[in-house]
Amino acid sequence: MSFKVLILGNGSALPTISSNQSSQVVEVGNSLFLIDCGEGTQIELRRNKVKIQNLDHIFISHLHGDHFFGLVGLMSTMHLLGRKNELHIHGPKGLDEIIQIQFRNAGSHLSYNMIFHEVYEAGQLLYENKEVKITTIPLMHRIPCFGFLIQEKIKLRKIKVEALARYKIPIHARKSITEGSDYTNEEGQVIPNQLMTIDPEQPKSYAYCSDTAYAERIIEFIEGVDLLYHESTFLESERARAKKTFHSTAADAARIAKQAHVGKLILGHFSNRYKDKTAFLAEAKPIFSLTEIAEEGKEYLV
Ligand SMILES: [Zn+2]
Ligand SMILES: [Zn+2]
Repeated sequence: MSFKVLILGNGSALPTISSNQSSQVVEVGNSLFLIDCGEGTQIELRRNKVKIQNLDHIFISHLHGDHFFGLVGLMSTMHLLGRKNELHIHGPKGLDEIIQIQFRNAGSHLSYNMIFHEVYEAGQLLYENKEVKITTIPLMHRIPCFGFLIQEKIKLRKIKVEALARYKIPIHARKSITEGSDYTNEEGQVIPNQLMTIDPEQPKSYAYCSDTAYAERIIEFIEGVDLLYHESTFLESERARAKKTFHSTAADAARIAKQAHVGKLILGHFSNRYKDKTAFLAEAKPIFSLTEIAEEGKEYLV
């Protein structure tokens, strides 16, 4: 199953010519999820050839503008293009009111139903289907803010081709075998599951943590994820500013990645003051070597 993250925006605060505000698309199997929706996100979706009407679930971490000012514009475009499918928005209290005020005062009646799901606590289950589930991660910011943990579910076992013939496994028995059951044949003989199947791939997971100060409370929620996106708005030289604004440095992000034993770290949400991003790697890698910069337009495999 494909599982990848496309970075649309890696900047904080102001959108500039060289960086967009926070947004990314997560593709898991047949599902597409949009996480955060800074100004200009719909243009980046087009630039990266993401079909916007295929987005049915949008997750907003918090109500600072650099994470959602693109949402009403994107929703309006979906409406103008005649969308009929429901659109689910997951975000903090107040976001539904902001959206409704905008459309109500414009006299717009959306062509589709928006269904708002309030995000309010850590570990909250926001979405699941048979392949994946999405829950919240508690972050530490100036206003309520949650990250998102996207986890593949435990996959089904695979029946060996030769086992199908050898044990004459009928079609109706296959589903329970892939779920781990033994098989009892017509003669009453029990065939142990391990003789018929091979282990499935390990389920993978991705964690999105932006915006946040250094917060060890995150660690238990993201323990062992394959890929972590953690904000690093500043470098250590701006430690005082990071503290005051409840943001992290590259070293902070690396410390969280290390303690949580993640597979790989991507750094993002950079302050505009830094033109060259190599300093972020120089700061993070001595603490956590498997670190990369989140580049806009680049896909990262989970
Ligand atoms: Zn931000
Ligand atoms: Zn913020």
